[in-house]
Amino acid sequence: DFEDTGSGDEAVDLARRHLIQPWPTAGAIGAEARGLIGEGDGIYITDGKGRRLIDGPAGMWCINVGHRREELARAMYDQAMQLSYNTPWYTMNEPSAMLAQRLAAHAPGDLSHVFYTTGGSTAVETALRFMQFYNNARGQPEKKLILSRGGAYHGSTYLSASLNGRPRDRDWMDGADGLVVKLTAPNPFRRPAGMSVEAFCDFLVDEFRDAVRGIGAEKIGAFIAEPVQASGGVIVPPENYLKRVRELCRANDLLFISDEVVTAFGRLGHVFASGDVFGIEPDMITFAKGVTSGYFPLGGLMVSERLLEDLRRSNHPDAMFAHGLTYSSHPVGCAVALKNLDLLEGGILDHARKIAPYFQARLKTLEELPLVGEVRGMGLMACVECVADRESNDPLQLDRQVGSRIDAHCHELGLLVRPLINMCVMSPPLIITKDEIDDMVTILREGI
Ligand code: PLP
Repeated sequence: DFEDTGSGDEAVDLARRHLIQPWPTAGAIGAEARGLIGEGDGIYITDGKGRRLIDGPAGMWCINVGHRREELARAMYDQAMQLSYNTPWYTMNEPSAMLAQRLAAHAPGDLSHVFYTTGGSTAVETALRFMQFYNNARGQPEKKLILSRGGAYHGSTYLSASLNGRPRDRDWMDGADGLVVKLTAPNPFRRPAGMSVEAFCDFLVDEFRDAVRGIGAEKIGAFIAEPVQASGGVIVPPENYLKRVRELCRANDLLFISDEVVTAFGRLGHVFASGDVFGIEPDMITFAKGVTSGYFPLGGLMVSERLLEDLRRSNHPDAMFAHGLTYSSHPVGCAVALKNLDLLEGGILDHARKIAPYFQARLKTLEELPLVGEVRGMGLMACVECVADRESNDPLQLDRQVGSRIDAHCHELGLLVRPLINMCVMSPPLIITKDEIDDMVTILREGI
């Protein structure tokens, strides 16, 4: 039908004939052309009809320094003209080494080394394979299970996707289920009725402790968590939850993997949030997205010196971490990441920290609307959760399209929203001003 009718726009018609986009449904696979975006500038994008929209989700939580940054375009051009690629197997390049040093300086604790990947899923996959290798080399091949949580999103490769906690991400897909144990989502809004947030935190920590005791620490390799769950609906965990679970990991010799694919590079006001915001020192941190502000597909894994030291001293010094990507340490990606870091350190991190309270306070006013059950968030990430009624906080299960309907209405009014079933996620470019936040909230209010 799509091919016969034609949309009047060549790119849309070509997409319908030849492009498969992420998360398609079986009935529309290969013919589902979504809103065409033609241009970006600062916090704005322009759609195929020439309408200017505020980029509410900053692309996919990634355009941190904003669209159309000439400095970043120039950094990519200059690097491509100097050295567009080199094999990372037996050569190296300058930008990847310089970036690794600067990331290590920002990372908490003794996270001193970086393994570069092509994005977030490959960063998480690398962390999990590293954990497997670490325990094999240490002579503990039984220690491989991974603890993850409801509501989590960690990626779309086989093992990273197996960690995902939202049922709809997994309903029609297979996964490495035998390797993963899921714990309760640390979502205070959905805590049992009558339970205080403090008691809910105790419940989560007890559940963690019981799971480790029940399974046996000798069978569990790692716990992975986003400091603030992003795609799960901007879930800010109860205070001290991460610190307490981090201690349990240390006590039981489980690696704590902090998935900072969204929360790093200024989204919470700092280069990394684990240490500077939550006061924890993970064993590994995964990152992607904001590291290049989305201008180039790059991600990575930071690993603590302690783990490397354990490997150097293990009984198997010949054991090989047989893991590498053609585009690991990509010079163009690392060059643009260096320039992006210059921009963040040169004022954008400060701005993000200063503007965040205003962003959160203005969005919070939407709780006046009867459809809104809660507005929550941290830094420059927030979620407006709609409910059928505010007594029961029924998440409007019957109307699974409510987020998309709000998005469609906001689109007409000049704002792109990230709809998540009954939720709307807002995570604009970090350069957003007070006036632009006012515009964003006015449109979102109207849209809801
Ligand atoms: N981890 C988290 C917390 C994410 O939000 C995402 C993507 O949204 C990923 C991992 C996967 O990253 P990518 O899509 O770059 O593979």
